[in-house]
Amino acid sequence: MMNRELSLSTFEHAKKIIPGGVNSPVRAFGSVDTFPIFVQKANGAYIYDVDGNKYLDYISSWGPLIFGHNDEDIKSEFIKAIENGITYGVPSYVEVEMAQMITDAYPACEMVRMVNSGTEATMSAIRVARGYTGKKKIIKFEGCYHGHSDSLLVKSGSGTLTFNTPTSLGVPDEFIKNTVVCRYNDINSIIDAIDDDIAAVIIEPVAGNMGVVAPSENFMKELRKITRQKNIILIFDEVITGFRLSYGGASQIFNIEPDMVCFGKIIGGGLPVGAYGGHKDIMGMVSPLGKVYQAGTLSGNPLAMSIGIKTLQKLKDNPKVYEDLEQKAIKLEKGFKENIKRLNLDFKINRFHSMMSLFFTQKEVNYYEDVQTSDVKLYAKYFKSMLEQNILIPPAQFEAIFFNTAMSEEDIKYTIKANYNALEMINA
Ligand code: PLP
Repeated sequence: MMNRELSLSTFEHAKKIIPGGVNSPVRAFGSVDTFPIFVQKANGAYIYDVDGNKYLDYISSWGPLIFGHNDEDIKSEFIKAIENGITYGVPSYVEVEMAQMITDAYPACEMVRMVNSGTEATMSAIRVARGYTGKKKIIKFEGCYHGHSDSLLVKSGSGTLTFNTPTSLGVPDEFIKNTVVCRYNDINSIIDAIDDDIAAVIIEPVAGNMGVVAPSENFMKELRKITRQKNIILIFDEVITGFRLSYGGASQIFNIEPDMVCFGKIIGGGLPVGAYGGHKDIMGMVSPLGKVYQAGTLSGNPLAMSIGIKTLQKLKDNPKVYEDLEQKAIKLEKGFKENIKRLNLDFKINRFHSMMSLFFTQKEVNYYEDVQTSDVKLYAKYFKSMLEQNILIPPAQFEAIFFNTAMSEEDIKYTIKANYNALEMINA
């Protein structure tokens, strides 16, 4: 058994002074029935805990570390940037440079506003969409996560579209009564839900927060068609997919131009950043240009902009990065599938480009209900076995694993071997 005593004692201490001992719930490792690792340092593809254990890291800080931990170029850029100060509260050139890079890469974004997290990006985009259309309701999809703002913490209640329930205490019913919850990949659920008061539809163009579920081509095309016909703002939440699936994100891969796009994670290179953008007429609503208020003391922070720009620049200069990430994902998928077959098991793997999830279910996973058939207890066992073998995967079934360019062929091979051992153990 791996020694994780210091992590455990740190967790016990943390629980006394931080709710649940963590600053974001999934980090408590609660749904995989263990306690978290506490990190000492990270480098390249690896993360090291306070007990001195080394793990191959498939969390990659939930997405931003596309070049792995402590990438030399990004680190040097950070050191260079900090020489010029940490925050100004008045405009700086790097903010303009970042906006130029985003607007160049996403035709849907003629203008962009920086914020500090994905939550802020989606919350603000929705406010702008409402301000622009003068309509109240929004549509989201069950299983898609867009951060923790009140109107998005909602799930459909008892199979009806009309009586939704908040997914958190502290969110009054009144706050979610204008959020309609639809079924991902099911265009009829949208058709049924649309009325004259829908301001926006917000969607993860490839779902990553129910595990990876890709949309059918027809669903995406129809969604764009209907929203355009009905003057509904289509918001792509590309907080995970933006600059990760390709430089132009899911918008580019599906060749679909949404009306607004939300970003996070990657564009900050690992510092807290988000952004939302859209066509000029829509973004013209944002204050001080228009009457939709949205602000942020630390928004466009120069350090975050500098390493975000460096990250995007590296991606732009090396388009092979996307091939590299996808090749790693393909190899892993192939290896996992062979293991599943060799062990006479029947689990499902969903992969879309470099986004991938292993579901502990016999059912094909195309809808949120399919995701729900996954055996989370098996996932917990699997997680713990992988951890014992020095591999860190997301401590929850309904997430994607994140590849980074620092991972080597050997790392992928080792992961396939560890996956075999873990599945064999589960099967015993
Ligand atoms: N949107 C998506 C698709 C996400 O995956 C997340 C976070 O994981 C968010 C929004 C919220 O971002 P943040 O955690 O930066 O507030």
